[in-house]
Amino acid sequence: MAAGPGRTHPGERLVTGIVVALDGPAGSGKSSVSRAAASRLDFDFLDTGAAYRALTWLALERGIDVDAADAIVALVDNLDYATIATPNGTIVKVGETDVTTAIREPRITALVSDVARIPEVRVRLTEMFRATIRESRQAGIVVEGRDITTVVAPDAEVRILLTADESVRIARRSRELTPEHASTATQLRDRDRKDAAVVDFMTAAPGVTTLDSTNLDFEQTVSAVLDLVEAAR
Ligand code: C5P
Repeated sequence: MAAGPGRTHPGERLVTGIVVALDGPAGSGKSSVSRAAASRLDFDFLDTGAAYRALTWLALERGIDVDAADAIVALVDNLDYATIATPNGTIVKVGETDVTTAIREPRITALVSDVARIPEVRVRLTEMFRATIRESRQAGIVVEGRDITTVVAPDAEVRILLTADESVRIARRSRELTPEHASTATQLRDRDRKDAAVVDFMTAAPGVTTLDSTNLDFEQTVSAVLDLVEAAR
């Protein structure tokens, strides 16, 4: 696969792979769509939300209050975080502990926004994500989150905001998580509201393509992402 044009991030060396930056709210399908697109392109895949979740998991494990910003920043400074790509998906580890399943638990989802709103946490994790992008040895990398198109990789070749009407996102989440539709709706709205106060991922920044998946199924959404990557090559 051909490598993309080289470019630099501030203070970083030249990188050569194509970067596909994909942001979106909860339930937009960005995680599964990004994963599928990366796999079909034979690109690396970086789920940035998993790092925020892993840090939240560690705080709970250590009995640290998520409002204790200094203690959380100290945790992120010493965070021993690793992701291991396997044919069956990505394994997430904190130290020696496999937290792949634990970081998806509702107790983490309920608190992760409080950890993610600490500015120093965002700076540290952004540095970590940029290092991962830099170190990628594939022809490209798909990076998904909330602030990838605007903060983590604003110079990415492909920048996408994946949206869907709130009712559709809630329906998708309910299928994924719980038959308790009403509580899913409340949780999703609460989390989006908190997250949107920190980074605006509901409106596309200049140069970012909005991909509205309200009326698209999974395959159609993945295809639309692949088309955008193809157009950028
Ligand atoms: O994408 P996911 O739902 O796993 O993200 C978990 C949380 O991590 C989000 O609700 C948000 O608080 C935080 N996050 C973030 N910036 C990112 C990715 C995730 O603030 N780039």
